[in-house]
Amino acid sequence: MAYDYDDQNIFAKILRGEIPNDTVLETEHSLAFRDINPQAPQHILVIPKGAYVCHDHFAMEATADEIVDFVRVSGQICADLGVTPGAEGPGYRVMANAGEHGHQEVPHYHLHIFAGRPLGPMLE
Ligand code: C5P
Repeated sequence: MAYDYDDQNIFAKILRGEIPNDTVLETEHSLAFRDINPQAPQHILVIPKGAYVCHDHFAMEATADEIVDFVRVSGQICADLGVTPGAEGPGYRVMANAGEHGHQEVPHYHLHIFAGRPLGPMLE
């Protein structure tokens, strides 16, 4: 499968330092920052530093180190927010949009983490 990555997308510009962001966690392979237009009291985006368009691109072509780093960052953020379900917190939602039907606006793979309020049913 050939994936066509546009290196002028806004998250590529964030990764190059051309656009500011509100970073919450950065590792060798991943960057997490607050969404500029939050849809919940806590709305964090996690992106790989590599040039991946969407979830399946990342899942199929990223290295094991990149994948582990990305998943661990997403878990660390939930832990840091104190939203782990059960005794510690009230829970959260993770979501990745892909392509036109998935309503993906920025064509650099990203995971949304929403927390801080009841989030309702999954789909509209
Ligand atoms: O999944 P989707 O591509 O639709 O989401 C893109 C997200 O990136 C939006 O929630 C938007 O608010 C966010 N964004 C951002 N900072 C930017 C541009 C977009 O947090 N500079």
